[in-house]
Amino acid sequence: MGNPHVLVIPFPAHGHITPLLELSQCLVLKHGIKITFVITDDNRERVMHSLATNDGLDNQIRLVSIPAGPKSQETMFEEHAFSSMPGKVKQIIEEINASDNDNITCIVADFLLGWGMQLAVEKGIRGVVFSGNMAAGLVLISKIPKLIDDGIIDKDGNITKKQMLKLSPSMPSMSPSHFPWASLGIPKLQKLFFEFASKNNKSLELADWVLCNSAHELEPATFDTEPKIRPIGPLLGNNLSTNSRPEDSICLKWLDQQPLQSVIYVAFGTTTFLNQTEFEELAMGLELCNRPFLWVVRSDITPNLKDAYPDGFQERVGSRGLIVSWSPQKLVLEHPSIACFLFHCGWNSVLEALSNGIPLLCWPTFADQFQNENYICNVWKNGLGFNRDDEKIVTREDIKNKVEELLNNEMYKANALDLKEKLMNSIKESGCSYTNLNSFVEWVKT
Ligand code: UDP
Repeated sequence: MGNPHVLVIPFPAHGHITPLLELSQCLVLKHGIKITFVITDDNRERVMHSLATNDGLDNQIRLVSIPAGPKSQETMFEEHAFSSMPGKVKQIIEEINASDNDNITCIVADFLLGWGMQLAVEKGIRGVVFSGNMAAGLVLISKIPKLIDDGIIDKDGNITKKQMLKLSPSMPSMSPSHFPWASLGIPKLQKLFFEFASKNNKSLELADWVLCNSAHELEPATFDTEPKIRPIGPLLGNNLSTNSRPEDSICLKWLDQQPLQSVIYVAFGTTTFLNQTEFEELAMGLELCNRPFLWVVRSDITPNLKDAYPDGFQERVGSRGLIVSWSPQKLVLEHPSIACFLFHCGWNSVLEALSNGIPLLCWPTFADQFQNENYICNVWKNGLGFNRDDEKIVTREDIKNKVEELLNNEMYKANALDLKEKLMNSIKESGCSYTNLNSFVEWVKT
């Protein structure tokens, strides 16, 4: 076989691109493996910037772009799952393999892009499924046929039995209402996601390797249930997820001025939205806490942001609170002034917080976020969830109470620090994730 050349295909959304960029960075810099990274036009500039500001990676990872396609979540799924993306990627492979002796030898595709493995088989190339989420999410997908047989869901993914269940005897109990497709809120999206997930079972079977950005120490029962899934995380590239923006230095300078372990950091990732009532309760909850806070308020987090803050809120909290539209999150979570992180339970944010021993306050809204919350609150016990009122709203009083409970009970910080140590050991030489990644690299090179 010629030199290894890996084609990496992320699902075109921020939270999916970042871990695959981190894996690519590691394969290029530490192992000298050639990478071609498939990106949609709308993400190209951001990814180029990230690569250029990290070890000159823009010269080492080759980006190929394809047209962005539709923007809404619904149409994006349809487009990328079933229509244009597979054909365009096939063309890319054919062009590369026809033009030089640098043939693609391996495809690494996001687990949402099941067609990636069919393409690998068709082209006689090795195939690897990569999941940037918890391995428990992959196990859930692999159990879909059994869930249908057991009458827990129907063939369209609708829940027919509501009681708690376990995916294997040693895995934690979960509620069917927290299946990722069941919590999307939009029926068409739910149907598409479920179809997607069901089809992807096949790709797990076809794949030579299934890699996951998690660690054995985080979900040992999951990896025992599905030994084909190999954890290689946490993948912690330099600062690849972050575009440097003016807010960066403002956040870090402001944090420098706050007492140690005093600040509540609040951020909801890239695609979680709050309605007006949720936004107002969050603002009032932060005001009631009477502690310093750094709050990332994306310009699209709530409709009509200009009028969304409660009257007089900003004047009342004054310099105790810093509000920015984006933060350098990895650097923020490393800062010694951070006391806790109130967030949406996105998996990248979970790993970034765990890697820094930060206790968590969970406000999940959709997809895998509920499963992640379940592990935080009931398995790892390094955080707390919120109670919702009759309208399913998190209230200001509950925010205040949970912040106090989290910060006044040393167990949460102790558990968070324990997890941090386990995760760091996992990526050290001879740790489980380190060993898996090295075995994978050896396989890619042979
Ligand atoms: N992020 C960031 N600055 C922010 C908010 C988020 O750098 O102000 C990054 C964060 O570090 C993480 C990613 O955006 O790497 C969000 O991914 P996650 O899986 O947590 O959530 P998603 O956006 O996919 O829902």
